[in-house]
Amino acid sequence: MSKKYRKRKNSPGYVKSEIVSVVVPCYNEEKVIETTHKRLSDVMEEETVDFEIIYVDDGSHDQTLNLLYDLHDRDDRVQVISLSRNYGHQVAITAGTDYARGDAVVVIDADLQDPPEVIPRMIEKWREGVDVVYGKRKQREGEGAFKRWSAKIFYRFINRISSVEIPLDTGDFRLMDRRAVEAFLEMPERDRFVRGMVSWLGFEQEPVEYERAPRHAGETKYPLSEMVEFATDGILSFSTAPLKIATWAGFLASGLSMLGIIYALALRLFTSIWVPGWTALFISILFLGGLQLISLGIIGEYVGRIYGETKRRPLYLIQEHREAEDDPSAEEPKNAGMRG
Ligand code: UDP
Ligand code: MG
Repeated sequence: MSKKYRKRKNSPGYVKSEIVSVVVPCYNEEKVIETTHKRLSDVMEEETVDFEIIYVDDGSHDQTLNLLYDLHDRDDRVQVISLSRNYGHQVAITAGTDYARGDAVVVIDADLQDPPEVIPRMIEKWREGVDVVYGKRKQREGEGAFKRWSAKIFYRFINRISSVEIPLDTGDFRLMDRRAVEAFLEMPERDRFVRGMVSWLGFEQEPVEYERAPRHAGETKYPLSEMVEFATDGILSFSTAPLKIATWAGFLASGLSMLGIIYALALRLFTSIWVPGWTALFISILFLGGLQLISLGIIGEYVGRIYGETKRRPLYLIQEHREAEDDPSAEEPKNAGMRG
């Protein structure tokens, strides 16, 4: 590590063994990466800890990876992990966390929507003994009304139907203590809904409030279709409620059709007005048919996920890994054999 960047060892509060890793997932972020690195390292240099910044290039198609390699050449606290293709935000976070060697690991978006200036407050809480410090958004500036509204509904909904409490208005901006990180990396599932998984861990978790800034530059990688998929992952990985909905709807439909059968029989046996009811027949066939398809569809979603899990493929593959130089605790990541 160059002296220019190295933390002032004699400053008060300096604890020798403390290393903080900052994980930054990047996908087509060429427009912001320089600014991000500048702001991030400025903030970290103020802290009395050693740090490394791990940029994970998630198969970008633009100049992101080259810019990251430049940063790596200039700044020896930078690790660059380039994934073999685009695996998505959640897997990129996992990959970075896997390679992190810090006593605490901070995950932050590359687009400066999560202000790096919040990290010192996270570190402060961590020092007080909190295992997971998560960023809680006060405001969603620069995000459309639709995104805000849909996110709100989504979090209310998922908390209602799942057994794990996922804090409202939190994203993936968080600090995790080493023991939470280890536990997180023990979770082998492929459908990674990281914020749910971290909630599931338990330990001591506390929020730090911040205002979410608009994207610094570039475009969101979560268009509507991606958001729907992300929400589905969240719901299906953390709740079996949809399966129950299917069951209850089935019971309800069967109950209603019982009434219908009794009614039809009564007409047939005790009156003379038993005109063949094609309309009713058609409606019930359609209704039940629809219901069965819905139920099958929901079951299929879960079966598909079971299928995905049983393949036991590695979560991600590494194209290239450029390590931070002069790393005191350099060792291969725990799951490298399995995942890397
Ligand atoms: N990202 C990624 N892989 C993807 C999509 C996004 O690593 O497939 C990164 C992206 O570079 C950013 C973070 O994940 O650092 C959040 O993405 P984005 O800002 O597009 O999401 P939003 O803030 O709009 O929810
Ligand atoms: Mg963003």
